[in-house]
Amino acid sequence: MNHFDLVEGEGGGELYCEGVPLSRIAEAVGTPVYVYSTATLERHYTVLRDALVGAGLKDPLIAYAVKANSNVAVLRTLGNLGAGADTVSEGEIRRALAAGIPGERIVFSGVGKTEGEIAFALAHGVAEINVEAEPELHLVNRVAQRLGTRAEVAIRVNPDVEAGGHAKISTGKADNKFGVSLSEAERLYANAANMAGVRPVGVACHIGSQITDLAPMEAAFGKMRGLVERIRKEGLTVERLDLGGGLGVPYFNQPTPPTPADYAAMIGRVTQGLDIRFAFEPGRMIAANAGVLLARVILVHERPEGRRFLVIDAAMNDLLRPAMYDAYHDIRPVKPRPGEPLPYDVVGPICETGDTFTRDRVLPPLEAGDLVAFMTAGAYGAAMSSEYNSRLLVPEVLVKGDQFAVVRPRPTYDDMLAREAPAPWL
Ligand SMILES: *Cc1c(COP(=O)(O)O)cnc(C)c1O
Repeated sequence: MNHFDLVEGEGGGELYCEGVPLSRIAEAVGTPVYVYSTATLERHYTVLRDALVGAGLKDPLIAYAVKANSNVAVLRTLGNLGAGADTVSEGEIRRALAAGIPGERIVFSGVGKTEGEIAFALAHGVAEINVEAEPELHLVNRVAQRLGTRAEVAIRVNPDVEAGGHAKISTGKADNKFGVSLSEAERLYANAANMAGVRPVGVACHIGSQITDLAPMEAAFGKMRGLVERIRKEGLTVERLDLGGGLGVPYFNQPTPPTPADYAAMIGRVTQGLDIRFAFEPGRMIAANAGVLLARVILVHERPEGRRFLVIDAAMNDLLRPAMYDAYHDIRPVKPRPGEPLPYDVVGPICETGDTFTRDRVLPPLEAGDLVAFMTAGAYGAAMSSEYNSRLLVPEVLVKGDQFAVVRPRPTYDDMLAREAPAPWL
């Protein structure tokens, strides 16, 4: 469920975000622009937390995956509800801290943490470092000892389960770069228990993204449970079980994902009787449906042989998912015109054929100047945007009720140029 709805008015319907017509934001901020709904962000977080608690998990840490949407206002909205943050770089840790999320609710994940990043995390009291490889365990041990501290670590396990909506976002198979095998994890955990600079507190997994089937998750979580039990049998304590993120969202024509209630019930079942503190790292399911990318039609170009191109002012640098993952986004006119729907190829201005959002999409008739919204764009949208083709970084707006605020302004061309420096010989 989200808070982007068509509201009927005098001149026909218009798409709103909560109490704000999207056209008002387009006029005030220009296009392209991302628009996020506070009510949807809050609802998704709350629904997940209530489902997990309802399934008998006590006090779970919901560490929102910052990479999905890293805007500090979004992080603060979630942090105010008690969310933690799952981070994969120093930059993301800094964002979480800037949003007021305390170190004790921050998890540091990722396959390639540098020494400097580990030191930064430890100096800022990050609760848990998810270690993904043996050399990394030794590195964390060394850095922590140098800083005179003891790092709480979880071992990231690759449970060898195939899951995820696209090969580029599947992370739980043995042949991809994430984590260590189950048997390796057991050995590393025991090793870590003997190191002066680390304290192993748990095990973690994250098997992929945009997962719409509970079966692979259930298989992976069952393996994680077995791992916890085996480690405990060796006389070691395991306090935390981090089950990652990955739950899918409905991108309109996709398989319907499981509900948070089904997800939570499955976890309750698989981990029944395991006395442990749970952590989760949801990204997409919190943010995706809480955002749209708003764009304006520049022109409609009809080829004599029949193709009809809708050229809009948003491009692959603003929303990379269609080009990168063949992703489908529902596209809705902000003020739908009456008339026969027509097939459109929706494209951006970038000089690459890859800058095609969709082909033969049947939409209500559109004209130059009309606004369109790409739905379900709140996750992996602005966070993946760039200035490719020297297009200005796309701005972001947060709506709450009938108010809105620009939470990342569009830079000026002077800002863009001022970031570069001439070489002394030029
Ligand atoms: C990307 C990622 C997530 C979030 O995945 P979603 O599919 O957005 O829920 C969580 N944990 C880790 C380690 C990740 O890399």
